[in-house]
Amino acid sequence: MEFRLTSEQELFKRTLREWCEANLQPIAAEIDAKEEGIPNEIIKGLADLGVMGITIPEEYGGSMIPGQEITLANLAIQEIARADLSMSVPVYVLLCLGWGYLVTRHGTDELKKTLLPKVASGEHFVGIATTEAGGGSDVANIATAARLEDGKLIINGEKSYISGIRETTEQRDGGHITLFRTDPDAGHRGFTFAYIPTRSKGISTTLYEDVGRGGLSTGGLRYKDVVIPEAYILGEINRGFYLNMEGFSVARILVASACVGAASKALDLSVDYVKQRKAFGRLLAKFEAMSFEIAEDESKLAQLDMWLRYTAWMTDQFYADPGSYTHNDISHAVSICKLEAPLLALDIVKHSMMHHGAFSFTKECPLELAYRGVLSYVVGAEGTTNIQKLIIARERIGQEAIPYR
Ligand SMILES: Cc1cc2nc3c(=O)[nH]c(=O)nc-3n(C[C@H](O)[C@H](O)[C@H](O)COP(=O)(O)OP(=O)(O)OC[C@H]3O[C@@H](n4cnc5c(N)ncnc54)[C@H](O)[C@@H]3O)c2cc1C
Repeated sequence: MEFRLTSEQELFKRTLREWCEANLQPIAAEIDAKEEGIPNEIIKGLADLGVMGITIPEEYGGSMIPGQEITLANLAIQEIARADLSMSVPVYVLLCLGWGYLVTRHGTDELKKTLLPKVASGEHFVGIATTEAGGGSDVANIATAARLEDGKLIINGEKSYISGIRETTEQRDGGHITLFRTDPDAGHRGFTFAYIPTRSKGISTTLYEDVGRGGLSTGGLRYKDVVIPEAYILGEINRGFYLNMEGFSVARILVASACVGAASKALDLSVDYVKQRKAFGRLLAKFEAMSFEIAEDESKLAQLDMWLRYTAWMTDQFYADPGSYTHNDISHAVSICKLEAPLLALDIVKHSMMHHGAFSFTKECPLELAYRGVLSYVVGAEGTTNIQKLIIARERIGQEAIPYR
């Protein structure tokens, strides 16, 4: 088994780190604070480096290297998160890479030609719209519904807590892969998943005021007789629930990448600080209460990073050769990443803030950005902590561990 990155992967990582340190890091706090969101030059710069197209094949304008797409996406999101601790840019990019990949895998040729080149060039955002007021963790409880008429879908309903509202209306363009009912009597076997451009006629939007991740908006979507072509359906009609779960797997790997990237940067900041700040006539690094906590965080993060790299590699193997692993193998490994990464990142950021003392409570110190940003993944985005435990328990114990059967 080979653990080293290839020389091309190392070069990609190094190039991206240098670009992010020069272009993104200096403006990360500004992006978080202003309503304008992520500047076009940042997304364009990432697109020029091939980042926005990592999960999109060359024929649709992307830079995908088959068999390495999730591994490369993991590296990219970690680097972006190191530079933007608020998580705005890493989450913007990971949503496009994750949900764009589902279009690559299950979209019709028409949808791929319409959407993917624009995602790869950074002009369009693509996200996910599953959550509703009555269905967050309980995805099967959604009420948004569609009927098929003359080769078109007509959609009515509402979605809430959706990332990328302002980005797909005012700032740029694009839309969301959206889950809705197409057979009201078939439970989760009656759901369909399709791309809905947010500028479609019949859509109205609202915006929420979030406590963190200020450069990427969240809000609500209301659909009133929204019409989209049948060609925007991913996979088969009434199979949407399963595709949604497949999409979550890839997105959750990249959520863990964002958390690991932010945590590794927070740890670096602690290391630098304890080597230059003195108390009681000594460097902080001399106090074991400080250095041992750094050592413990370092060892936990190293373990998680290795598991994450393994999960990304395993997912690449699965997509290159579907007989190599099962969906269950993937969701088990992915849920471990999604369970552990946000909680560990929040701990490491909190420790780093404590290492920095009062300075960390000011906006001059970037750690407060990370604290607020990582929290989005602790409280629920891309699936709550308890839902990851449910998945891991189901894979480890079996169907007996499912409470509602
Ligand atoms: C910043 C942010 C961005 C988001 N972006 C998007 C997006 O782009 N698209 C999208 O579709 N959604 C998005 N979401 C919504 C997110 O997916 C939901 O918050 C998540 O699925 C949880 O749903 P909920 O908030 O309704 O919580 P609930 O489902 O109501 O859960 C509340 C609490 O109950 C617990 N719980 C629920 N069921 C069980 C159970 N069976 N066993 C044990 N505990 C349980 C949960 O773990 C949680 O602690 C976003 C959320 C946030 C915070």
